[in-house]
Amino acid sequence: MAHIAFIGLGNMGGPMAANLVKAGHKVTAFDLVAASRDQAKADGAAIAETSVAAVKGADVVVTMLPAGKHVLSVWSEVVPVMAKGTLIIDCSTIDVESAKQAHALAARAGILSVDAPVSGGTGGAKGATLTFMCGGEDKAFAAARPVLENMGKKIVHCGGAGAGQAAKICNNMILGISMIAVGEAFALAEKLGLSHQALFDVSSTSSGQCWALTSYCPVPGPVPASPANNGYKPGFASNLMVKDLTLAQDAANAAGAATPLGKHAQEIYKAFDAAGHGGVDFSGIIQHVRSLAK
Ligand code: NAD
Repeated sequence: MAHIAFIGLGNMGGPMAANLVKAGHKVTAFDLVAASRDQAKADGAAIAETSVAAVKGADVVVTMLPAGKHVLSVWSEVVPVMAKGTLIIDCSTIDVESAKQAHALAARAGILSVDAPVSGGTGGAKGATLTFMCGGEDKAFAAARPVLENMGKKIVHCGGAGAGQAAKICNNMILGISMIAVGEAFALAEKLGLSHQALFDVSSTSSGQCWALTSYCPVPGPVPASPANNGYKPGFASNLMVKDLTLAQDAANAAGAATPLGKHAQEIYKAFDAAGHGGVDFSGIIQHVRSLAK
């Protein structure tokens, strides 16, 4: 069993660290927020006073933080005190450029590094059923896999430094766009007098089939477990979709890719967010679509 330092014990990081404890690892944890540290202690982790103190003597360091600037700040503090040949994994969703800079920081210090953003949300974090999309050298990925297996059920090596983040934002751009498309189709069906169930029965088995429709249907009824049946309680909040679509736009601009629908989707979710619905599940975007009708 490994000695693992875990930094960032929020909605995702807290339960992920708890799963590492459950798997039998020695976990030393740190977060800026006292309540999160207390919860990690109750879950069986040892608590450190600072990030630097948490990583001392650790074989593996995991970070789960809000954005690229937090990751770069924490990595620049902890990488210099890590032993050569040990491993650092970032599971946050951050911009590809910051992820590459973080890898470079680790490489200069002789530390193995992996970017490993997740999909599966807080339910996946609690249930250890996350999907990890990983970027980094083969040797680093091989070292990270057994650790990630304690927190998730699907671990994919997507390529070199930053490839995990690239996969994450490309996937979520598809999701953000397709949820608007499905919402528009239901909103049109309503105007045409077509029932939700009839559209679902046809499209879920026809060429309109997609995950946003069949697993996360934005109207109540056809998919009982979708947030539409629960007042659009997240799930995956709209403000997190804005974050991911903004990361996709930043990456597209930096790389010179044309993503017209990704850009439009970002604007639509931003407007929903600005109207005070950032905490609503992103499938609630159908309400915004309906509100645009003449
Ligand atoms: P969160 O805000 O609940 O947790 C982030 C934690 O990082 C907070 O507890 C905060 O105090 C801590 N933190 C910030 N700066 C720190 C520092 N310098 N040192 C130590 N701790 C620090 O966020 P979350 O929902 O847990 O998400 C974490 C990451 O996972 C984000 O990048 C998010 O985009 C991504 N993500 C979230 C979800 C989700 O459903 N919540 C799903 C997939 C991916």
